[in-house]
Amino acid sequence: MVKNGNKYIVLLYWDKITWYAFGAITASLNQSHIPFEVFKGEIIPKIEEWTNDGYSVIFGESSRNMTLSGLKTRLKTIENTFSSKEVISVIGGPHASGNPLQILNMGANFVVIGEGEVTFPKLIHSLEMQDFSLQPQINLPGIAYLDSNRDLVKAPSRPRIDLNHYCPYSAHEPFPLHPPIEIMRGCAFRCRFCQVPYMYGNPRFRSIESIGKIIDHYYHYFQPLKKHVDIRIIAPNSLGYMEKKRGVPNIFALKELIKRIRQYEVRLFLGTFPSEVRPEYITEDVVSLFSTVENTQISVGFQSGSDRVLSDMRRGHNVDAGLQAYELLTDQGYTPKFDFILGTPYETEQDQWDTLGIIRELGKKSQVRLHYFMPLPGTPWALENPSPLFPQVHSEIGRLAHDEILSGDFDRQYSFSKRK
Ligand code: SF4
Repeated sequence: MVKNGNKYIVLLYWDKITWYAFGAITASLNQSHIPFEVFKGEIIPKIEEWTNDGYSVIFGESSRNMTLSGLKTRLKTIENTFSSKEVISVIGGPHASGNPLQILNMGANFVVIGEGEVTFPKLIHSLEMQDFSLQPQINLPGIAYLDSNRDLVKAPSRPRIDLNHYCPYSAHEPFPLHPPIEIMRGCAFRCRFCQVPYMYGNPRFRSIESIGKIIDHYYHYFQPLKKHVDIRIIAPNSLGYMEKKRGVPNIFALKELIKRIRQYEVRLFLGTFPSEVRPEYITEDVVSLFSTVENTQISVGFQSGSDRVLSDMRRGHNVDAGLQAYELLTDQGYTPKFDFILGTPYETEQDQWDTLGIIRELGKKSQVRLHYFMPLPGTPWALENPSPLFPQVHSEIGRLAHDEILSGDFDRQYSFSKRK
């Protein structure tokens, strides 16, 4: 392998749960002329490929709840195998942003809090300036680290970026990354279980013009390689694109967005996993828009069959809103794919039965992805414990799965939460 002329390399650890973040991060590294590789699998041989040639390595990873145990092992392995002069670890992503101390105590040298597009390249340049030594300590907005007493130092946060000035993909060979296209970041709602608003604040939108340029790239990049060019949209609530008022879809902007994308011969997927839409955004006008996209399944966040729980969650909609979305979508031949959460704090047995009752009802013409509540750092429910599942409730979940009404990672999330 031909090595670059610099004395350092950024090695980004690829994981199927977190790799979307690397589209924007590698684009920013590219723009800042920072050499990088994206890799998966064994970390020691990959790092040694570079350290054996005298390179300093910056190991980067994005963190989520479900990747924590692997991350912990990798950080420990790095700490036990390499000196800090050889490898500096920098961790970003939702979990690290919400609980930087936990990640630093696992062995990370730095945490990037919130958006990494600006902070990560600046941190690398700062490290380069001091020849990849951890001394003196770096003061840079958006980072956290432990001082010499192992106390947490959290620098002031960095102003949020204008998405239009940052590319969400990288075509850089040999590590091109083309994740679904992020059309907005942040959310106007404040659900207590969700990290999005606490990490990214209120919504910011990528303009239609800027999205058009990205589509142009995706089309020309994939058209020679694939039979169909698929354009997938990612957003906390795709139907909230360019909303002027919280809870009211901007039909004009949504139409313009779809029209712009469909100027190309592509298959457009809107409102599909991992994005979802809020139920009250499903209006008759909105449903008619789905005739212009490829997918007939629409992911909708219903979250609970109990109005009491929805209010506790601070969801901002009730059960009727979910049922109405179900009617509107199924009447027009679409299949809603509803997300529900069980085990939220203070949930009663009756709440759980209410949710399962609704799920069985919806299961006639829709699909349901059931999740078990996981307290996420940085959210108002970060320190809350999941409510236990009542035994009969658990049996009913088994029957719903057997009847093929349920899909999702419920069992894995449930066992994960029990292990903690
Ligand atoms: S769950 Fe959805 S609507 Fe609620 S805060 Fe998160 S992104 Fe926003």
